[in-house]
Amino acid sequence: MSGSKGARVWVKEKEQLVPATVNSCGDGTLVLTTDYGEVLYLQQAEITRERVYAMHQSSIDGVEDMSALAELHEAAIMHNLYQRYQKDNIYTNIGSILAAVNPYKQIAGMYGPERVELYSKHHIGELPPHIFAVANECYRCIWKRHDSQCVLISGESGAGKTESTKLLLQFLSVMSQNSAGTAPSEKSTRVEQAIVQSSFTSLKAATSREAASSTNRVVRQNPGERNYHIFYALLSGANKDNKSLYLLEDPPESFHYLNQSGCLKDKSLNDKELYNSVMEALKVLDFSEEEIRDMFKLLSGVLQLGNIEFMTAGGAQITTKQVITNASELLGLDTFQLSEVLTQRSIILRGEEICSPLTIEQAVDSRDSVAMALYSQCFSWIILKINQKIKGKENFKSIGILDIFGFENFEVNRFEQFNINYANEKLQEYFNKHIFSLEQLEYNREGVQWDAIDWMDNAECLDLIEKKLGLLALVNEESRFPKGTDLTLLEKLHSRHATNPFYVKPRLGDHQFGIKHYAGEVLYDGRGILEKNRDTFRDDILNMLKDSRLDFIYDLFEKVGSRNNEEKMGTARRKPTVSSQFRDSLHSLMASLSVSNPFFIRCIKPNMEKNPSIFSPEVVLNQLRYSGMLETVKIRRAGFPVRRTFKDFAIRYKIIQKEKSPSSSAAAGDDKKKSTDLLLRYDKTKKEWQLGKTKVFMKEALEQRLEKDRDEV
Ligand code: ATP
Ligand code: MG
Repeated sequence: MSGSKGARVWVKEKEQLVPATVNSCGDGTLVLTTDYGEVLYLQQAEITRERVYAMHQSSIDGVEDMSALAELHEAAIMHNLYQRYQKDNIYTNIGSILAAVNPYKQIAGMYGPERVELYSKHHIGELPPHIFAVANECYRCIWKRHDSQCVLISGESGAGKTESTKLLLQFLSVMSQNSAGTAPSEKSTRVEQAIVQSSFTSLKAATSREAASSTNRVVRQNPGERNYHIFYALLSGANKDNKSLYLLEDPPESFHYLNQSGCLKDKSLNDKELYNSVMEALKVLDFSEEEIRDMFKLLSGVLQLGNIEFMTAGGAQITTKQVITNASELLGLDTFQLSEVLTQRSIILRGEEICSPLTIEQAVDSRDSVAMALYSQCFSWIILKINQKIKGKENFKSIGILDIFGFENFEVNRFEQFNINYANEKLQEYFNKHIFSLEQLEYNREGVQWDAIDWMDNAECLDLIEKKLGLLALVNEESRFPKGTDLTLLEKLHSRHATNPFYVKPRLGDHQFGIKHYAGEVLYDGRGILEKNRDTFRDDILNMLKDSRLDFIYDLFEKVGSRNNEEKMGTARRKPTVSSQFRDSLHSLMASLSVSNPFFIRCIKPNMEKNPSIFSPEVVLNQLRYSGMLETVKIRRAGFPVRRTFKDFAIRYKIIQKEKSPSSSAAAGDDKKKSTDLLLRYDKTKKEWQLGKTKVFMKEALEQRLEKDRDEV
């Protein structure tokens, strides 16, 4: 290779390609400095094409769309993001996906009205990548294609999903205002609908991190994690009168449900502003004053419940009399009845009521389960109300904005992670299908034949999870089985699926099972899965809540069936398990996505410290892998990934053209003919290349041979 000083190269270090610059090349030693500051000395024998090779010009210059990179590997994609990020170009296209790297700072002029104006006047691809370009295309498509549009925004916590949602809204609301004067009113109504739908998203984000995860965050938080934002918003935003009405005069740290994790502030959030925007959203969505008051009473009641304490005296006894009075008042419950269900359990057996005292631990559990039930019923009620509000006419077209929590793989993964990852697996399937069909479109447009290319799809992994006798089915079966335990469940999973290539039976760790997800292998802790899935709720607690003087609370629980009664009635009307409800809602989401035109925005965190100037390669690479962006690359690679226009091709390889057949080189001929002649010389079988209408399509291996010969001339 030509290793002149200052030349840009890729060097393979610990199985990773790393961008580097040549320092010196002499005496058989090549000295390189990697972009991460490491100096490497390569001896003659090490200087192979495997180990080090010249960087393609497209990687050196950086490109706005990764598809234009001649080198389509992880390192090149990352390097391109990095180069752009350094110049405050946080947006980059990867084919039809928009990657957004969180700058953790305000970039001047990035989202001003003049930018909105500019992007609204151009088609996608005409201007540098930007979230406004996506918003504009989405807006145009709703008129052009007459179908619903959806924007899927994904990324880790703090990657910028909510911020992106707001920016999309900012653009769409300007567009709807602009059109209001000129267009038929139908137009603005539709956009209004879209906006309502999105304020739903922010409301949802404000009240719950994920509908998918269970509500146990209400009562327990991991270190460094807050409870749902709404609690802090309420405490900092409510005025004096409301604080006294809701018994919220004490600061957040005085509430057990808020003070356990030691994390009360979220640096990136202003709780007061959040309160105002939630109030705003509730008004837009037509919640009445009374409903808002009832919701806040419920939330305050939950906080009071958390402060109820117990001691032992022949069973658990409540020591905090004032607190239980407060909780009862807010929730419209009878203090005595509430105390009873928290300290003893009553069951009806052959017509007789039998009471047994609870231990302190059991009492705390029942207190927490009341709190969780209140929160989750209230949440479902809000969603139901919003859905009723935004439901449009039969033929109404919408722009849906989906703020999705990404793939999770923690130290310990539980039922919540299982559900979240299942959802991500489903969305990945949708994503793959979409990308795949776009590729197909490009081949068709260019008139290139493509045989069924084999790219990795995740159907088998999904089968393992949701097919007949798959993991979900077994979890549900075992949940229905009164004697089922976490251990019997695990035995069943192992014995049925041990041989499935996507299932992992760990050699160590006797309470775990694993799944090979598209984004990597995850081990799940089987303990507690059945309990969470059953979501059992004591009948006596349910009845106590139904006795509430407040219509609001009564209505929330009126329709909740009691398991015992249902068991008596037979299996026909069993309460669905948590995972089957989750699967059903996921399937209905997929059904609406399947009739929508999708846009994908992948938010990326450049570092874990929220620092505006650090780009950590490990942190980013991990997200690229989990986000499916590399999948696009994979699908592309499975076909003919390298594409060059005839002209580009002819110019680039002119030099080997001469070399190979010096006499004919001068012969006239158009670029297409020149390209074909050369390609035929390299591969007569045409297995490694095809001609499109405007471009040459090649396999990477063929391009590498061409490049090598070009280097060596
Ligand atoms: P979570 O999953 O926890 O809700 P998220 O992905 O919604 O996280 P955001 O709240 O959107 O994350 O972003 C976190 C912070 O990062 C923002 O408060 C903001 O300070 C910063 N940020 C995100 N995107 C941008 C942007 N485009 N420009 C400037 N700052 C941004
Ligand atoms: Mg968010």
